[in-house]
Amino acid sequence: MLKKLFSSFRSPLRRPQPTQHIRSTPEVLSSSQHSLQRNQFSRYAVSIVERLQNAGYQAYLVGGCVRDLMLHIEPKDFDVATSATPEQVRAEFRNARVIGRRFKLVHVHFGREIIEVATFRANHPQDDEEEDSNQSSRNESGRILRDNVYGTLEEDAQRRDFTINALYYDPVSERILDYANGVHDIRNRLIRLIGDPEQRYKEDPVRMLRAVRFAAKLDFGIEKHSALPIRNLAPMLRDIPSARLFEEVLKLFLSGYAESTFEMLVDLELFEPLFPASARALELNPTYTHTLISEALANTDLRISQNKPVTPAFLFAALLWPALPAKVIRLQDRGMPPIPAMQEAAHELIVEQCQRIAIPKRFTMPIREIWDMQERLPRRSGKRADLLLDNPRFRAGYDFLLLRESAGEETDGLGEWWTDYQDSNDSERRDMIRNLGSKADGEGTGPRKRRRSSGAKRKRSEDASSASE
Ligand code: ATP
Ligand code: MG
Repeated sequence: MLKKLFSSFRSPLRRPQPTQHIRSTPEVLSSSQHSLQRNQFSRYAVSIVERLQNAGYQAYLVGGCVRDLMLHIEPKDFDVATSATPEQVRAEFRNARVIGRRFKLVHVHFGREIIEVATFRANHPQDDEEEDSNQSSRNESGRILRDNVYGTLEEDAQRRDFTINALYYDPVSERILDYANGVHDIRNRLIRLIGDPEQRYKEDPVRMLRAVRFAAKLDFGIEKHSALPIRNLAPMLRDIPSARLFEEVLKLFLSGYAESTFEMLVDLELFEPLFPASARALELNPTYTHTLISEALANTDLRISQNKPVTPAFLFAALLWPALPAKVIRLQDRGMPPIPAMQEAAHELIVEQCQRIAIPKRFTMPIREIWDMQERLPRRSGKRADLLLDNPRFRAGYDFLLLRESAGEETDGLGEWWTDYQDSNDSERRDMIRNLGSKADGEGTGPRKRRRSSGAKRKRSEDASSASE
């Protein structure tokens, strides 16, 4: 009777609460209660766990690899969590290197495969508790600046971001330890923060981007209490170091789910702090800007699904392009001629953008080249067309032109002309150049007014200011 009463009290407690806190004892799933198998994991990662356990430490596979395999997705990498300190881990393996400052980690190398081994970390001491400033620190808004306080397995689960990322798999006993009802959330396809969502976002605002990234990648919903604070806290991303945001943005847009990621970022108002000028363009010319960016991202997703290479430069060129006209117009209004205005606008835009997201020079240069190509592609007379064809940036410039056209920019059939030109033989090419007449000497600079196609008529008034000429 007592047992029955007890169990009727226990079961509701086991369902995730709006604020999911960590259990003091985990739910343990034995091998018959889950679908994971040891041989699905990297054999190197499994051997690291075995070795650490044999040396007397606790060690588990954790994070994305456990989550993804439960969803029958091939993991990107394999992370190990252990009670051994980085120095103790390094002592166990010849092929290990301690890396990182903000998070000290050990990379164990096996040929080209790298397994990341992290020591259990404790959640951050609260502000009113004594804080060892050598090990950890946070700023006045609660953001964690350094985080090297080692802890127990339970504490390690607590400091992880989402319930679905806090599953620990022991390949030796083949059991899963679930501290935060992550298995429940995997089954219900929900992204849910561990602990109080607002506090967890304040500790690390990048978690807002991670929520979106996992929601898009896994096709999960963001649980409503975890989604609710995001719009309010989105501006906190402005304080994140621009180099970290560059890494994060690449993950957002180069993981194969960029198109839905973009929709979610816009919806949750996370796009503005990342790309302020593009967000303004999205308000000024919603249809054109949205179409151009979505098409570029859909293209990227497709290429990734086909294992084709993608360049961040093309992606950033597209994300920023709709923000150029407003700048060009402003400079032309001050009396600058069109081409210098375009050059100056491009320069200003990239400098501004790099304050938010530190795009390295090796990408900003090709972004400029792709944009410059847009001014040169209309000018085809004499030997110009052949010179352009030989330009190493031609292909990216031509693809970018097609992208602009598919977003509705009026280019007088320029994309089709270049498609035909590439398919033609020498004498056909000479005819094409002869037939150009004077228009090929080239007006055509900068982002143009979008074509008023029938489908877009409704939006005409919104797009009235998109012209740059
Ligand atoms: P994937 O590798 O597929 O992108 P992942 O979940 O493995 O996904 P990582 O960035 O590799 O993501 O991080 C590994 C684990 O570390 C996460 O699963 C999570 O538990 C923890 N983690 C990473 N970043 C944070 C963060 N900002 N706050 C809290 N925990 C984090
Ligand atoms: Mg990972």
